Formats: sequence, structure tokens, C-alpha cells
Amino acid sequence: MLSDLNTIAAISTPMGSGGIGVIRVSGRIAKEIGEKVTGKKLLPRVANFHSFKDLKGNLIDQGLVLFFSAPNSFTGENIVEFQCHGGAIVTQSILDLCLEMGAVLAEPGEFSKRAYLNNKIDLAQAESVADLINASTIEAAKSAAESLSGNFSIEINNLLNKLIELRMFIEACLDFPEEEIDFIVEGKVKEKLKNLSKIMLSIMKSASQGQLLRDGISLVLVGQPNVGKSSLLNQLSGEEKSIVTAIPGTTRDAISSDISLKGIPLNIIDTAGLRNTDDPIEKFGIEKTWSSLEKGHIALFIVEANNGIQEYEKSILPKLPKAIKRIWIFNKIDLSKEAASIKELNKDKIVYLSAKTGDGIDLLKKVILSSIGFDKSEGNQNRFIARKRHLVALEKVYDALRNAQLNIKSAELVAEELTIAQRYLSSITGEFSSDDLLGEIFSKFCIGK
Ligand code: GDP
Repeated sequence: MLSDLNTIAAISTPMGSGGIGVIRVSGRIAKEIGEKVTGKKLLPRVANFHSFKDLKGNLIDQGLVLFFSAPNSFTGENIVEFQCHGGAIVTQSILDLCLEMGAVLAEPGEFSKRAYLNNKIDLAQAESVADLINASTIEAAKSAAESLSGNFSIEINNLLNKLIELRMFIEACLDFPEEEIDFIVEGKVKEKLKNLSKIMLSIMKSASQGQLLRDGISLVLVGQPNVGKSSLLNQLSGEEKSIVTAIPGTTRDAISSDISLKGIPLNIIDTAGLRNTDDPIEKFGIEKTWSSLEKGHIALFIVEANNGIQEYEKSILPKLPKAIKRIWIFNKIDLSKEAASIKELNKDKIVYLSAKTGDGIDLLKKVILSSIGFDKSEGNQNRFIARKRHLVALEKVYDALRNAQLNIKSAELVAEELTIAQRYLSSITGEFSSDDLLGEIFSKFCIGK
């Protein structure tokens, strides 16, 4: 228990005015603060209507107060929540009062961090709190809710238990090195390692979908004026909307849109302004666009089907980051009288479509999703949300399991690889985590959560 920590307070509802505002207080003197503000004894888990008065007895507002007694609260500490009228001044006045009474202002994510440190939730669950709040599509929110309920952690812990069991078995065998046993043991261990790798692959697949739902994909639009970029964006955004819009690029080239594909937010980077120029402001914008391209997943090269690939696209091609995938779009097939289809060009896909009529847009969506490995088949839907850090750890676990299989003749090496795998797997749920990592994770939360 972290009972000796400061008592923290924050406004948990967003800035601005609304029906209700919530001020949350957590820690040793939370109950005392609640009772001073209301002038009444607070009972756990009972909602009562109270007057909130300042230190001089002046009325600030009236509303509900909820008290959760430690350890049965979100943070594991005593928590008091004031529900007042949702105005900036009234919420701030109640917060100020709590601070005057001895609480300190909570840092971003500090309530969740305390919940984690008090073992109320693990690290993956704590992260999913922020992911749920920040989700920009329904699918991302569903996946975050799954993670928050513990589904991701359960899968990780099940695997972890199997891994530990196997490691202990091998370490026990190391103590009895008999030839005959070794042969049987080798076959058994091999089978178990294979089985663990299989489970790993399934988790990695879902985790990579989860990361796409969380972080989205960046599409880079390359195309001359009038080839149909805006029309294409309109087609893509026609059916699916994402709440958050992230369209980097220069101000003059920025397009405003809000698009998602099967729940994956699409970040659009427009390269329309990537021309040679001496204008310093334009140059700055162009540099910014190039640097944002480094984060791009897929470059969409749009040309008119009648004209084919031109010098403009050829000049951009070599400048694109190596890792970026390319899809060619031959637009305006209604004019060139071609059928919507997918063809190949030096391993790149070409999609023939019409951004005007919408013919072939489904093909483009399919190509985009398959090029980033998105698979929303049955059994792989919204299983959980995931972050880059989880994927990196899972890959390390997978590598260690593969190394263990390669070194199957040496029980020592197998045990060593399993220890490595165990360490990386536990880092996901935060069993082993550094203060730096915690600082990095929780600093990205909003205040009051
Ligand atoms: P942008 O400058 O690349 O954003 O191009 P726009 O989307 O503004 O399109 C330029 C012009 O081409 C507009 O008049 C569009 O209606 C037209 N256009 C775009 N796509 C198609 C298409 O598939 N077929 C036809 N016939 N016209 C198109």
C-alpha cells in the first residue's frame, strides 16, 4: 500500500462547461477533506446530496459526494469524488479548496499509476485506460475495453505460466542429467516449445491488429493537381468516420478529413506541395512534410489511368523512405473505360478505380488492409488493444522461443532463453518495469485519470 503518499486531487471532467463536473481526491486525507467540505460524516459507497462550503463557511455549490474506502477503490486508496455543477469556476473552486486542505494537484495519469502500484490493475490495463479515453474509432474503443477488462493480461499471464512451468521442468532435469531421460525430455520440450510459439503467433497477430487500431496507419498521398486526391478522400471517408483527425503537412496543403478503415484511423499526409521552391516559408513546410513521411506506412501514388505514370511521380519515388509500402492508383477509369481491378507493377499493386463513381474503392480498401497485414477474420476481432512497446516485447519473446528450439540439445541454453522470454513477457503487464518506463507511460495520460 502506498498510504504514505500525498493525497492527490484533480478535476476529472474535461475543461469547459457541462451538466456535471467531477473533482476526485485520492489518498490518506481524502475522507477528511470530503467531510470538511460537506460538514458531514461520509459513509463508503453511499451517494448523498451535500452543500460544499469553503473554509469560511461560504457556499460554493451543492451536489453529490461519493466515498470509496481503501482498498476498495480505483486507486486502492481512500477516494472522495465531488459531483458539482459543471462550470470552470465552480470545479476550480472545489479543487482549490481541496488543495488548501492539504491535497496536492495530481499529475497526469497519477490516479491510474497509483491503481497500478497498488496492484488494482496491471500495466497493460492501466495503458488501456488511456487508450479507451483516446480511442478515435468504435473498434479501437472496444479493443481498449477488452484490454481494460483484463483479457490481454489473461492471455499474457496464461502464456507466462506455461513458460515458467517449462523452465522449471528443464531446470529440474538439469539436476538429473541421465542420458536416457535426456532423449525423452528433448522430444517433450521441443513439443512444448513449438506449442508456446504457436500461441505466441496468435497473440502477436491480435496485438498487431490492436496496435493498428490504436495508432492508425499513415497514408501518404502523392499526385499532381487534379488527379483526384480530394475525390478519393471523399470516397474513403464516405462510409467510415473517425473522431480524431490527424492530417499533418503544410498549412497550405493540409486537407481536413476524418477517415477510418475497418476501425483503423487513417492519418493522411498530403505531398501536393513537394515542389522545388526558393520561398523560405514554403521550404520549411516541405521539410516538415518530408520528415512526416518517415512515419508513413503506405504511399498512395495517384495518376490518371489515361495518362499513366508521369515524371512527377517518378521524381518523388526515389525520395520516399525505404520502409514505406506503395500502392498505385489509376484513377478516372470511367473516362478510360477500364474495369475496376487490381494489377501488379514490380511487386507494387495497382488499383484501377474511379474516385468519381466509387467503382473500385472497395478493392483499394482491401489492398490497403492486406498490405499492412490487417486480418479481421473471425476469432481475431477486437481481442485487445496494444502498443508498440507490447509488440516489441512479444517479438523478443518469440525470438527467445525460437532460439530455445535451435539450442534444444543444451538444456542450459534452453533454460536461459526461457528466462529471457519470461522477462520480456512480464514487462507487458509491468511485473518488471523501470521508473523511466512508468514515467513515460503515465505522463501521456490526462490529468484526473
Ligand atoms: P485533386 O486536385 O488531386 O484533389 O483532384 P480533385 O479530387 O479535386 O479532382 C479534380 C477533378 O477531377 C474534379 O473535377 C473531379 O470531379 C475530377 N475527378 C476526380 N476523380 C475522377 C474520376 O474518377 N473520374 C472523373 N471523370 N473525374 C474525376
